Amino acid sequence: MRHLLLVVVLTSIGCATKKAQQSYLYTGEVFNELPLPTPNSIRTGSGAPGYAYWQQQVDHVIQATLDVENNVIDGHEKITYHNNSPDTLEYIWLQLDQNIHNENSTRSREGRSTGEDSYSGMHVSALTIDSVPHEIKVYGTLGKVNLDTPLLPGVSLEMELDWVFPMPVDANLRMGYDDSYEAGAVWELAHWFPAPCVYDDVYGWNTLQYIGRGEFYTNFGDYEVSITVPRDFLVIASGELDNPEVALTEEQHLRLQEAAKSDDVISICSEDEVAEASSRPGGEGDITWEFIGNNIRTFAWATSASFIWEASSVEIDNIDGEQVRILCQSAYPKEAKKYWVRAVDYVKHAIKYYSDTLYPYPWPQMSVVRGAAGGMEYPMLVYCRGSSHEGLFNVTDHEVAHNWFPMLLNSDERRHAWMDEGINTFVNYNSLEAYYGDKEHKPDVSKYIAKRFALDLKPVNTKPDLLKSRGHLSYRKPGYGLRFLREEILGKVRFDEAFTEYVRRWAFKAPRPADFYRTMEDAAGVDLQWFYRGFFEETLQLDQGISHAKEIQKGKEWQVRVTIQNYDDWVCPVALKIECVDGSVHEYTLPVSIWAWSTKHVQSFYIPAQVHSISIDPEEAYPDINRDNNHWYFN
Ligand SMILES: [Zn+2]
Repeated sequence: MRHLLLVVVLTSIGCATKKAQQSYLYTGEVFNELPLPTPNSIRTGSGAPGYAYWQQQVDHVIQATLDVENNVIDGHEKITYHNNSPDTLEYIWLQLDQNIHNENSTRSREGRSTGEDSYSGMHVSALTIDSVPHEIKVYGTLGKVNLDTPLLPGVSLEMELDWVFPMPVDANLRMGYDDSYEAGAVWELAHWFPAPCVYDDVYGWNTLQYIGRGEFYTNFGDYEVSITVPRDFLVIASGELDNPEVALTEEQHLRLQEAAKSDDVISICSEDEVAEASSRPGGEGDITWEFIGNNIRTFAWATSASFIWEASSVEIDNIDGEQVRILCQSAYPKEAKKYWVRAVDYVKHAIKYYSDTLYPYPWPQMSVVRGAAGGMEYPMLVYCRGSSHEGLFNVTDHEVAHNWFPMLLNSDERRHAWMDEGINTFVNYNSLEAYYGDKEHKPDVSKYIAKRFALDLKPVNTKPDLLKSRGHLSYRKPGYGLRFLREEILGKVRFDEAFTEYVRRWAFKAPRPADFYRTMEDAAGVDLQWFYRGFFEETLQLDQGISHAKEIQKGKEWQVRVTIQNYDDWVCPVALKIECVDGSVHEYTLPVSIWAWSTKHVQSFYIPAQVHSISIDPEEAYPDINRDNNHWYFN
């Protein structure tokens, strides 16, 4: 999801509200091991999945109908739940996210209703397990089904449900209804069908309510979804269209096949064809669109009579090194055309860039749709807005990159938002630089520093439902922190090798923070406990300064004795630059271990010319909260 970031300008940063917490200054405990979970055969000490790693597989077959007149969606769903765990399950928890709009949801009772009046939520009218009727107990956005027969390890069950819910029309919480277009409204569906919560090795059933700040954590599985809509509607979804001969005209089908082979952007339904009867298959009544999406963690779809539909494709190397083409599509009403004419190109860039640098995009297509949602990601489908070319690029690139984090690496978004949003923000920096090339996109260290005294400053690794400033703590701070780790601490080559190892190890699996921390240390060969403690696990601050310096001429060279101090509770290496009167420059990086037992470090440097000045962090790349003490000048 895209978070709207406010640029906070602080005219004074000297008004710190000092944290009441343990100081590491005189003990060196900042270097101690973090209290991470004990490694085991599922999650190993190296950070890799172990030989006993398991996760549940949940397959869905759904038939859904959009009733436009009443604006409700009803569905029949068959869930095949494969219990790959070593545990016997007595019950199944279901996610019923649409209930977030009910007046008795946690969100509404917090006084932050989504604005849906008299919303009835997800009504499950029938539920069977292996053909036997079962009761569902509903608790807000969760439903519990007690099993008549416990589900043994290695065994599967089939759950069938009939359900209906009203389309939320005022809320646009990661989906929504937008009727501001001349040729008809846009429906964006997500979080729309009952789906089993994740049962995993770390928490058992993951049963955090959907409050809206945390996103979702779901199971991988295969989807067959049939969507019935009025004949003049187009449907874009988290899967490949499986019945183009029914849902498209012959001409549209040919154009789609052409786009799948072409670098050019091809109109599947052009602006002139929107709302033209000839642009839809002949006949009467609704049309059912059938989609297949394999090995994905949820399913979303969008529909409208107002869509312009454009498509192209981009070639990437797949995981086996074969060249394959990924279909890249956009769908938007003509009112958005000004910026959306480039949307397919933005998708192509993102698919290619992240495939080349992270992991080959493993699904056959990617689509971007314009509707109510400002920016939200689902497998093979993202919802975006954007009111400038770069704005639309940024949001599209961000949401498409979510198909790596968390659609490929299935992190728990309700507990660790930084693992998708922060890591994503970090990779977006690099993608933006790659796309625009000629522009400078510096890490936003100043924004990070400006925000550091926010009253709710909490560790990055805090449940997002407990964070007020998610824009800072889930996106910007971890995004900046990873860039800092890459460019200033590890170096690009060393970082990239470790980071891509993390992606490779956890693709199609569900990593937790310790798996990320350990893999980065294991593959980069560096102890980073102090870094994780400072940036992710606690709220430490960095303030390095030069408290004294002296130079003495010794023969042909000058000895410069520098006293560096660590004034706050975090530590970092020290980037030191010495400039001489003859214009020569000498740079050093002092390792973080200089802070192991003292907050004061004295070191001599021997320079072949008289020294003019000394500075710390000359590129202002470190998150140093007070740069006034970073310079020393000799007269
Ligand atoms: Zn996001």
